Amino acid sequence: MIPLRLYDNYSRSLREFAPLQGTDVGLYTCGPTVYDYQHIGNYRTFLFEDTLKRVLRWNGYRVRHVMNITDVGHLTSDADTGEDKMEKGARRTGRTAWEIAALYTQAFESDLAALNIERPDILPRATDHIPEQIAFIADLERRGYTYRTGDGVYFDTSRQADYGYLARLDRQGLEAGKRVDVGDKRNPTDFALWKFSPPDSARQMEWDSPWGKGFPGWHIECSAMAEKYLGDWFDIHCGGEDHIPVHHTNEIAQTEARSGTRLANFWMHGYFLLANDAKMAKSAGEFLRVGALAERGYDPLAFRYLCLTSHYRTQLNFTWDALDAAVTGLARLRSGFHALPAGSSADPDPALIERFTACINDDLNLPRALAVAWETLRGDGAEGANVGATRATLARFDQVFGLGLATWQPELPEAPPAIEALAAARAAARRARDWKEADRLRAELAEQGWEVEDKPDGYALKRRSPS
Ligand code: AMP
Ligand code: ZN
Repeated sequence: MIPLRLYDNYSRSLREFAPLQGTDVGLYTCGPTVYDYQHIGNYRTFLFEDTLKRVLRWNGYRVRHVMNITDVGHLTSDADTGEDKMEKGARRTGRTAWEIAALYTQAFESDLAALNIERPDILPRATDHIPEQIAFIADLERRGYTYRTGDGVYFDTSRQADYGYLARLDRQGLEAGKRVDVGDKRNPTDFALWKFSPPDSARQMEWDSPWGKGFPGWHIECSAMAEKYLGDWFDIHCGGEDHIPVHHTNEIAQTEARSGTRLANFWMHGYFLLANDAKMAKSAGEFLRVGALAERGYDPLAFRYLCLTSHYRTQLNFTWDALDAAVTGLARLRSGFHALPAGSSADPDPALIERFTACINDDLNLPRALAVAWETLRGDGAEGANVGATRATLARFDQVFGLGLATWQPELPEAPPAIEALAAARAAARRARDWKEADRLRAELAEQGWEVEDKPDGYALKRRSPS
């Protein structure tokens, strides 16, 4: 048995993973803010999380995966100032905040499918969990962790001696420097739990609460929904690296204040996809969508392949050259796999499976696991390699890669017009029951290297394999 070791950002160390209960793993990953399309940077993080889930399953665990949909409360500034991204997105598009939430959630789900990312078991929306968030805040208030200002209810971070531990925040430094716009907050790190609607205008999304009409802060949704679906102490919590200093720090603060746990046993983060060496960000205006890759003729799975070539804890600079190299790699892997004869009942090679497991269990070292797949395909070191076993081994690896190797079909070459005309003439002859002419045309097609296959709704043309 090769142990699974994962890097936990809370302890800043590689730790051996074991589920808190039996073989069931609770996994919570922070999901999209649906005020716009997600960019391929976001998907790098979602791909890392999907790979983690596949590796957990490879190790025999059952995973319960919850991913939230943020459809309210995420402000344009992480310091709780600025506008709600949803209301801003609504203005930009001329639709309501509710309409854009539905639109971009749907776009997100179809991108997941295009990238072969498994749908989480539960995708709860923040706006469907307002009572849970209000109950959470009310409990924090009873325990003395909150205070009110003119614009909302805030969490008092000075009540927790270890606030900011996840990010190793220097609170004294922050306090002394006061570089952050504090407003009415008592401490720079305090954050909003509930924001009031403006006194003079209605928001599109607002709810009654014990503190007045308004909407929940961004962090409280994750603590409340994670607790509802996974409990207040579960196995793994993930997100992008930007979540370490603010969002996840504040989730931990809230849950520690209410339940005394730090929410998850492992805190894991995907590092950024960069564009021109800067963070790819929706708020920066220009960003690449999965749809834009497809429009340029790229198979979205080439992006998945590209992400497998770098470790999730290093930043990855996106370039078109790198994507082109991934296209080539994926095409070779696919055609190599399909050149191996199907239908054998051979088992995967145990020695290769073990080497592969050693890579993926070493904190998801997918670049090395991919190298093992290449060696497998080339048959390096295998004596009297059994091609059936090679195919079975690669198919097993693909349970983790998620590249859909077995379901991929080589594209059929298109028949030139003259061939199409012969096939159409043959179909007409058949309709006229002129079997002789139909046979003659079939033979003529064969002579030119094409085979015609009759189907219930017409026919299909295939290149004849050389005999
Ligand atoms: P958001 O929709 O902004 O809430 O982000 C969704 C997820 O994508 C979060 O886990 C972020 O941390 C992550 N993320 C945002 N930008 C990037 C990036 N450039 N590269 C990788 N992950 C990112
Ligand atoms: Zn979250």
